[in-house]
Amino acid sequence: MNATACAASSEMASTLTCPNCGWSWPLTMPTDACLWRTACPGCAAELTPLPGRCCIFCSYGSVSCPPVQCQTVEESP
Ligand SMILES: [Zn+2]
Repeated sequence: MNATACAASSEMASTLTCPNCGWSWPLTMPTDACLWRTACPGCAAELTPLPGRCCIFCSYGSVSCPPVQCQTVEESP
């Protein structure tokens, strides 16, 4: 399975939750890149990835980003 097929089978619609004010809003993640920062629509706080997380979806989203979802079905040599 290549990366494109893997991404196509992944969940692309995530719901982000602001840790500052608790606001939740839907955000569709890009298929070919991670997203490292966004602004909360509720309080305008800038959200950046938590330590050890690759992007804001993995930090604040309801689902992880496609690369992480794909890693769960791959086996390391
Ligand atoms: Zn907020």
